Amino acid sequence: MGPPGLPQAFHATPTFDLQGEASKTPRSVVVISMDTVSAQHLAIYGGRALTPRLAQLARRGVRFDQAISLLPETCLSHWSMWTGVPPEGHGDAPAVHGSRSTVPTVAEIASRAGYATAAFIGGATLTDSACGFGRGFDHVDDQFPLDRSDLKRPGTEVTQRAVAWISQQSGPYLAFVHYFDAHFPYTPGPPWDTRYDPDYTGQIDGSDRVLRPYRDGQKTPTAADIAHVSALYDGELSELDAALGPLLDAAGPDTVVLVTADHGESFGHGYWFNHRAGLWDEVLRVPLLVAAPGLPAGSVVQAQVGLIDVAPTVLALAGLPVDRRIAGHSLVPLIQGSGQGRATVFSTTDPARKLVQRAARTATRKVILQPGSVLQYDLSRDPLEQRDLGEQGVDRAALVAGYQALVKPFLADLVPAPVPPALTPEERARLGSLGYLPPAGAPPAGRPPG
Ligand SMILES: [Zn+2]
Repeated sequence: MGPPGLPQAFHATPTFDLQGEASKTPRSVVVISMDTVSAQHLAIYGGRALTPRLAQLARRGVRFDQAISLLPETCLSHWSMWTGVPPEGHGDAPAVHGSRSTVPTVAEIASRAGYATAAFIGGATLTDSACGFGRGFDHVDDQFPLDRSDLKRPGTEVTQRAVAWISQQSGPYLAFVHYFDAHFPYTPGPPWDTRYDPDYTGQIDGSDRVLRPYRDGQKTPTAADIAHVSALYDGELSELDAALGPLLDAAGPDTVVLVTADHGESFGHGYWFNHRAGLWDEVLRVPLLVAAPGLPAGSVVQAQVGLIDVAPTVLALAGLPVDRRIAGHSLVPLIQGSGQGRATVFSTTDPARKLVQRAARTATRKVILQPGSVLQYDLSRDPLEQRDLGEQGVDRAALVAGYQALVKPFLADLVPAPVPPALTPEERARLGSLGYLPPAGAPPAGRPPG
């Protein structure tokens, strides 16, 4: 049972179809997920937000230039990242409070090989009770006091707890560390609150109270307001970078370190300060940095990859076997110059919500199927997706078929869902305060936010 007042997590029992054996000299692993971090905002990707600790990691490891999220919400994106199974292959994990896939997680494979495993969760949408993400971890640190208008705990505290646990380990360990600092609302502390827009004189700030009408599409921000909110977000990114520094120091040079994000955030395209209904690159293109002994320091991989490739990459670098069923591929050959990236990454908004969108992205072109319209962008000339080329040349049927081919093998393997528990009144109030809970009767009841 979980803590009183929270829904109970659902943990499917994994089945193992592993290829290879665990290495006799296993490496410890630290995986860092920075929730809601858009690659294009970071200085290491040409953006404004200064992130010296991530830059340092990139200098000693590998930076992937085109790493793409398959779904712009927290729970399902993490399940895909953590297994190598596409998001829809987990069932409606937010409503079920867990994945219905029996494919093992990185934590389950590592645990089976004798690793100590721990998860440190910074945001309410990835806790075990919300998403079942505690599956396979010996130690889950995901309980913290919640502000009604916020759903996170400070990154400095997440780091402190992860570093304390790492310092106690004597054998191989796996630490999954999740930071929610960049997620809405945008409320960086000094000096980051004024760092990137010191001359702003308008009335808008990054709080839930002020931004909710824009997030809901009821108000349209001015250009100055957008620039200011974006500056607050960038301030949060710099603040987060500083917060995770001690964790990067604690990991040590012999440890596999992977840093990424589940999705980014939208500050354009008429979709303000949100992510779950956007498939533009500001939302889908995420940072991906990997450092491990033997990898070429300071290298950049230009080829497109998907977050679905994170799990097999972590396992390969640690010396752990992968499950044969997964759709992800280890990126180690690509890093070493012998592999290929993904020709196409298929992304989708949450299939359980109304008005599902789908996207197909190649290294140079993006097509987004929205209900009633098709958007197309030439990413080689228009990386910010400002000029919609329309439906010309788009084969919708092929796009849908490609997506279905990716997902279909996993749907047959889903274990039955338990009856979803209802939200408690406290949970409903808390989630409702952030505007996550739509009017009664819209998406399935009990669905936590993304
Ligand atoms: Zn998220």
